[in-house]
Amino acid sequence: MSQQGAHDHSDRKKYEFRKVIEDLKNFEGSGTQLVTIYVPDDRQISDVVAHVTQEHSEAANIKSKQTRTNVQDALTSIKDRLRYYDTYPPENGMVLFSGAVNTGGGQTDMVTRVLENPPQPVESFRYHCDSDFLTEPLEEMLEDQGLYGLIVLDRREANVGWLKGKRIEPVKSASSLVPGKQRKGGQSAQRFARLRLEAIDNFYQEVAGMANDLFVPKRHDLDGILVGGPSPTKDEFLDGDYLHHEIQEKVLGKFDVSYTDESGLKDLVDNAADALADAEVMKDKRVMERFFKELHGGELATYGFEQTRTNLVMGSVESLLISEDLRKDVIVYECAACGNTDYELVDQRKATPSHTCSECSTSVEASADDREDAIDHLIEIAEQRGTEPKFISSDFEKGEQLYNAFGGVAGILRYGTGI
Ligand SMILES: [Zn+2]
Repeated sequence: MSQQGAHDHSDRKKYEFRKVIEDLKNFEGSGTQLVTIYVPDDRQISDVVAHVTQEHSEAANIKSKQTRTNVQDALTSIKDRLRYYDTYPPENGMVLFSGAVNTGGGQTDMVTRVLENPPQPVESFRYHCDSDFLTEPLEEMLEDQGLYGLIVLDRREANVGWLKGKRIEPVKSASSLVPGKQRKGGQSAQRFARLRLEAIDNFYQEVAGMANDLFVPKRHDLDGILVGGPSPTKDEFLDGDYLHHEIQEKVLGKFDVSYTDESGLKDLVDNAADALADAEVMKDKRVMERFFKELHGGELATYGFEQTRTNLVMGSVESLLISEDLRKDVIVYECAACGNTDYELVDQRKATPSHTCSECSTSVEASADDREDAIDHLIEIAEQRGTEPKFISSDFEKGEQLYNAFGGVAGILRYGTGI
């Protein structure tokens, strides 16, 4: 994947996807009339159009007139959207949603959304028509974004591959020339044992070479390495320092697996489930621990929307910490009387409140343009200042505190600013 492509799957992009998904999940159709189509990147647009046309004519058989009209309208709307694409969908494919959703009081509204280039490739074409939009496959793509290197080996064969999110990708395999334990007649026991050890050593080197070639170039994106195999093979392999030291450092653990072929990679991931779950949360925990250390004894912590924003604008924020649960809009109140600017966070479902200037108490009106998603607002500044945003889960105590005690927004600073 290109650098640009990798950058597109930043936390910001994920956040934008998450927001659209949350919206889509709230929609409901009164009948089986909400259409979702998952399109992999190797599926020709003309094929998709043909499929939609086919569904459109089949929809003529739907008994309820209202549902029939709604389904056909949704399909027409999707066809209109597909006209914007050339031969193939964008990288990683796309997902189309369209349908008449209930807006209360028997009213409906036509909603059409297209999500391009999801965080992981759409694996297969899928047409879905129901009273809900089908969002689960997209949600799964957003859940784990971890990148792990996988190695399984015994003395006869080895496989290396990737765990990307929830997907296992076998990449390379090797088999060894290590002779069995039974020596041939006429060979001295000593010589046989020596040859056998040499062959094992050679094989470990070959496996390590294979793993290093694959993992070293990606070492900065890697969240960890899992090693599987029977005892004592995996122990010998790890203890023998065969792996590149930067790869060795990333080994999260070694696990017993029954197979060392490609199915062994799956076995390995299953057996490492706890370690993987810990590793995901550990990333967030480490960041929050650093924040708390600075908060209590250092000068490099800031928190709360306004303080963090001020630091961001100054370019002093190294890591912008945003609670995954934060769903607020920011309203920017610019006072015409004294020129002061106030920021107020409101729940995304609430109306814009009236406001009086914190400096001169003049009442200030805000227009629709003065209100936007608080996270978008911060991330935009962060991107201009080269600050990395990090979304923090609230599934652990300090992550929960970020949301409850610090307003969901904090920062670790490059230098102390006293703000
Ligand atoms: Zn004022």
